[in-house]
Amino acid sequence: MEIIDTHCHLYSEYFSDIDEIIKQSNKLNVTKFINNACDKSSCIEVLRSVEKYNCIYGAIGIHPEYVQDYKEDDIKFIEQHVNDKRIVAIGEIGLDYYYTKENKVEQKRLLEEQLKIAEEYNKPVIIHNREATQDIIDILKKYKVKGIIHAFNGSLETANIFIKMGFLLGIGGVITFKNCNLKDIVDKIDVKNLVFETDAPYLAPVPYRGKQNIPGYTCYTLEFVANLKNMEPEQLAIIANENLKRIFDI
Ligand SMILES: [Zn+2]
Repeated sequence: MEIIDTHCHLYSEYFSDIDEIIKQSNKLNVTKFINNACDKSSCIEVLRSVEKYNCIYGAIGIHPEYVQDYKEDDIKFIEQHVNDKRIVAIGEIGLDYYYTKENKVEQKRLLEEQLKIAEEYNKPVIIHNREATQDIIDILKKYKVKGIIHAFNGSLETANIFIKMGFLLGIGGVITFKNCNLKDIVDKIDVKNLVFETDAPYLAPVPYRGKQNIPGYTCYTLEFVANLKNMEPEQLAIIANENLKRIFDI
């Protein structure tokens, strides 16, 4: 079985020994990783990581959390490196209204600047959405882009809108949490629209909830959904990889 973690943050700030994390993850059948950037310095780390490791693919972008800190030059930097080897997406980008709604205009501008690059260079996007679903939908509709809705945790109606727009839903460890109703929604979604992720080092799935997450733990989320769908994990892993490869050059 070959599982791909479509969303992690393999930065030295979180993981002192990336070789060891890759080894541990391989033991859990997670063999490929999409390392997502958040700001300029993590973009540089992502670029270095894909140079060093054949199993790591990169997404470069500025996360909405960094809307106050980024510089126009950072956007140029992303454009300069968008076609680098094994850079497969623009991400993690999006809107986050959880902490503040006061910089909506700036967040939207940052997102759109990066969607323009994705459209121009024909790269998929990895979308962060927190309490901003309608604005995300309205903005994505303006661009010819596809990609992943990272850490999807919305309604069935929202899922169907994103699917119709050509997006895959990234399912993370949260689905394994007790009292999480995401499983009832995912139960009703065709597996051809799903990919799996960790968001490591955050949000470890059961049985590691509350601990530091590593990409290898994608296997627990995948197994959980395979159970839900009455499928073998091997079969679901193959489908998820095919889903990813429809949109991503991996
Ligand atoms: Zn993330």
